[in-house]
Amino acid sequence: MASVDIKNIKKSYGAVQVIGDLSLSVDDGSFCALLGPSGCGKSTLLRMIAGLEEVSGGSIHIGERDITFEEPAKRKVAMVFQNYALYPHLTVRQNVAFSLSLAGLPKAEQNSRADAVAKMLQLEPLMDRRPAQLSGGQRQRVAIGRALVRDPQVFLFDEPLSNLDALLRVQMRLELAKLHNDLKTTMIYVTHDQVEAMTLADKIVVLDRGEISQVGRPWDLYNTPDNRFVAGFIGSPSMNFLPAQAQSSAAGLSVSIGTATLSLPPRAVQSFIGTQAVELGIRPEDVQLTAPGAGQIDGKSTVVEYLGNTTYAYIDTAHGMITVETSSAAGLTAGTAVGLTLAADKAHVFDASGKAWTKAA
Ligand code: ADP
Ligand code: MG
Repeated sequence: MASVDIKNIKKSYGAVQVIGDLSLSVDDGSFCALLGPSGCGKSTLLRMIAGLEEVSGGSIHIGERDITFEEPAKRKVAMVFQNYALYPHLTVRQNVAFSLSLAGLPKAEQNSRADAVAKMLQLEPLMDRRPAQLSGGQRQRVAIGRALVRDPQVFLFDEPLSNLDALLRVQMRLELAKLHNDLKTTMIYVTHDQVEAMTLADKIVVLDRGEISQVGRPWDLYNTPDNRFVAGFIGSPSMNFLPAQAQSSAAGLSVSIGTATLSLPPRAVQSFIGTQAVELGIRPEDVQLTAPGAGQIDGKSTVVEYLGNTTYAYIDTAHGMITVETSSAAGLTAGTAVGLTLAADKAHVFDASGKAWTKAA
């Protein structure tokens, strides 16, 4: 087990800069998720840690060791890829034990270590099959087993669940969480799926075009996003954003949307006096349906998605489409006129540059 320290890492392909100047510390034994949209540089960063990609600048330490220019096999990391990358002509046992056989370990030790991993991942009945005879979930488990058997100091996962169907993804997510609880090995996990990051990680690093947008615990990112990018990326359905006017005076900060005015809680940062165009951010669960005229905004429902335990209603308003999450939408159908009440104490305010004014209390 070991911490990972990334200092001022840069990566360019020719003239194209993919990673700007990125620094990040991952604590020993923690689970860190690198989260961001496709193309933001997540795999590039992970591959530089693994040694599969050279850095253009900066340094990487694992524990006390500077591994920036160390060859991949000596870094004591193990990587799991999205496409499994199993050897098709080898059995599960041979796939799992491959790195051990390469390292020249005695056959008996190869087998006992492969057996221990197989037990942990419920691969025992599959040890003599070849990858073609396995389901997607089983293949991914073999890929994880192949990483596990090397007993690395750091596990690197690159979107390991993306090729699985929804149900299996949830199941494997639980298994990964259990695995981390049992092993307590440092894990760095790349994903574009905010639910995976939220459920698995101690710490989430949100990447936006090769730069860190925000680092924090899942609930910090959800409750106090630093900026509009993180606010919109974390949470499903996404936060609503409404064009608004902020008024700041000695009396405090308020935000108007059309004719409605919301007083913002003291936790909102008040950094100017006067009026400014802003965006008001409000999560679907912080908007309540009321009778028309009884809330701050009126609208008409367009689509109502009933999910059993919760309902998403998409309300067309003069300020744009607003998503509402509610448990009491019985009888609500498309075309119904409704009022909306926004919970001012849950609102977020973003200035023209996308920076959040609302900070943790
Ligand atoms: P992610 O994993 O977040 O989807 P990547 O790290 O794979 O993103 O890629 C980040 C950016 O770097 C992308 O714009 C991609 O096109 C570019 N890129 C990745 N590999 C190469 C390469 N070998 N040559 C040139 N550009 C690359
Ligand atoms: Mg990728």
